[in-house]
Amino acid sequence: MMTNAERLAEKCPKCHAIPGSPCVDPLGEPTSRPHKVRGPGQLDAHLVAEAQRKAERQKARYGPLFREIAEREVAVESLESIRERKRYEAARAAESRDIGIIRQCNRGLAWVRLWGVRWGMAEVIGEDRAKAIWENMLRVYGNNLPYIESALRRCLTTTVPRELGFELRFEESRKNANNADGRYLVCVDRWEPTSPVMTPAEYDERFPKLDHEFGYVDVDEPDDGGLFDRMMAAFAA
Ligand SMILES: [Zn+2]
Repeated sequence: MMTNAERLAEKCPKCHAIPGSPCVDPLGEPTSRPHKVRGPGQLDAHLVAEAQRKAERQKARYGPLFREIAEREVAVESLESIRERKRYEAARAAESRDIGIIRQCNRGLAWVRLWGVRWGMAEVIGEDRAKAIWENMLRVYGNNLPYIESALRRCLTTTVPRELGFELRFEESRKNANNADGRYLVCVDRWEPTSPVMTPAEYDERFPKLDHEFGYVDVDEPDDGGLFDRMMAAFAA
């Protein structure tokens, strides 16, 4: 078993937190303790245990009289096969949608636009700050575009403070106070404007939203030689 401190020194496969940074929940808020699967091989162990539980459940469904048959018939999924299956499911989910390609193109366009916001932000608040904020966004939200967008907007149009960087420190006197090894996280970089950089209206004007995702397809009606109109006229009469 790894301690939470040991887990923190590793990258998290679940929330993609980098070594030294706390795990984050789906909303980007730091969690009180790191994810259980964080650390070398932890995710694999987790998946294997899950496969084991699944097989046990399946065996239990055979009932007490058929335990031998259950042992013979129910196989525990191997780690390789789990990995293969997850890879397959991800690929299938991305490709099997009717509009999978269009979605991916739209996503690319959205990224291009978001980089535009990032460069625009650099023009307003300076490259240093913009870079720190942008990297924080990518680290915390990964490729979740809507979250990045709304957080950038919050940074620029409000005075809500945002913690950008953390440092893991050690102090002898803290040993066994809050945790066993005396390490603690300190926020070393913070975005805290005294007044909003721009108003929401200015933001929307400067960084207009693309409407490509919400566009419509104009389908021409087939030419029926006026049949539909004649029919409706007949109904009215
Ligand atoms: Zn995590």
